[in-house]
Amino acid sequence: MQVNATDSYFTFKKKLNIAYDVGGSESAQYLSKRLENYLKVRTVNSDKGDILLSITKEENQLGDEGYNLSVSDNIRITANTETGLFYGIQSLLQLLPVAVQARQDFKLVGVVVKGTEVIDRPKYKWRSFMLDSGRQFQSPEFIKNYLDYMAMLKMNVFHWHLTEGQGWRIEIKQYPKLTEIGSKVAKGKEQQGYYTQAVIRDIVAYAKALHIDVVPEIDVPGHSEAALCAYPELSCFNEAPKSVMAFSPNLFCGGKESTYTFLKNVLDEVCDLFPSKYIHLGGDEAPKGNWNKCPHCKQKIEQEGLGNAHNLQLYFSSQLASYLKTKSKNVVFWGDVVYHDGVALPDNVVIQWWNWRGYKDKALQEAIKRGHPVICNTNYYTYLNFPLTPWSKYQENRTFDMRKLYEENPSDVSNPHDLILGMGCSLWTDWFVQEYMADRRVFPRIYALAEQMWHKGDRLSFDVFYSKVKNMYPVLKGLGIDYGPALMEEVPDNYRWE
Ligand SMILES: [Zn+2]
Repeated sequence: MQVNATDSYFTFKKKLNIAYDVGGSESAQYLSKRLENYLKVRTVNSDKGDILLSITKEENQLGDEGYNLSVSDNIRITANTETGLFYGIQSLLQLLPVAVQARQDFKLVGVVVKGTEVIDRPKYKWRSFMLDSGRQFQSPEFIKNYLDYMAMLKMNVFHWHLTEGQGWRIEIKQYPKLTEIGSKVAKGKEQQGYYTQAVIRDIVAYAKALHIDVVPEIDVPGHSEAALCAYPELSCFNEAPKSVMAFSPNLFCGGKESTYTFLKNVLDEVCDLFPSKYIHLGGDEAPKGNWNKCPHCKQKIEQEGLGNAHNLQLYFSSQLASYLKTKSKNVVFWGDVVYHDGVALPDNVVIQWWNWRGYKDKALQEAIKRGHPVICNTNYYTYLNFPLTPWSKYQENRTFDMRKLYEENPSDVSNPHDLILGMGCSLWTDWFVQEYMADRRVFPRIYALAEQMWHKGDRLSFDVFYSKVKNMYPVLKGLGIDYGPALMEEVPDNYRWE
């Protein structure tokens, strides 16, 4: 990001003309909505206005998401795409008074914005926030708020973890028991519920308007206890799992043909709901106890010459990935699928590296060796459910603060390989991290992650960066975000993470 202050300035008057040229109309509508409570706003298809949004046809370095923002006696945002204009608008909004950023009442007429020239584009193409709606269910309103926050942070992928041992949350018309039974297998009050297909379509459309791609995750073959409570015949021994609280050897049977038919039918509906080019199929933490004993699994291992149950998972993953390839989708798997190499995965597979605590950078290295793109999302320090100080089952070794994250995040790879597609961060909801506890974990630490995802080149020192984050606190407060402390030493003795 290059920023140069200039001597000129822009003053808001009672009337504001937002002009756009070919292709800029969506962005003009968005900006108009953000300012219409403060001024008399008019959008015009023209090359003259107080604010001019322009899709450029000239050769430049802005890429698909970059923008050029220039503030003088008028404001001009130039980009190659609507997405670039959208990010330029986000940066422009950050130059306006706190109340406007926080969507509160304010008298904007007469406000002066100092002249500036900004040229900016992101470091990574993939900048995701993952929400675990499997262990705890969140309301659509909560999700829309978080999509708004993501847009503010210029994050562009909402990775939606929709299935877990503790709950199946996505309506599948062909298999109604998945939600009738599977959305109610855990006992907590916030663990009941699911998203109808109508609600999902609404959320996907809401995200699209914010230039956010929604990538659904159907986690298989493990973390599937809820689905197997609904359809026990798809497990190895036709039994509903007795416990759903932690991951277990209760996997979808990898030997039965009926499993593959079932999951392909589920994926047909998933692909209809989510236009994203990416579908996440989990693949993490799938202990092979049952697969080692199951006659169907043993037969499949024998038949396909797989040798062992680990390779059966690779066969399983590869079958589903190949199926999605016929639908022109890429498939994301957690890094566990590159710890073994008995079956080659198809070339539409992307690896999400998570297990730093157990395996350091093994998944990253193995994925690159095999030519798969990688998303860096290590459990140190991108898991925002880890609090700053111990809470519930989160011990000392599952805590971190913003300084550690800013300075030591393994996912923030220096000199990243060309195969690194980007970075992700996650809010898992283990141990009952409920909606009302989310903000104080996510904010303000997510600013450091957003910075690592977006910002190319030299970094500010932590102290300078932190002072900029603190300048955002009034905005967070205005938006009703219940942000928590940033640094270990700021956590009060009696601070409650719940
Ligand atoms: Zn089996």
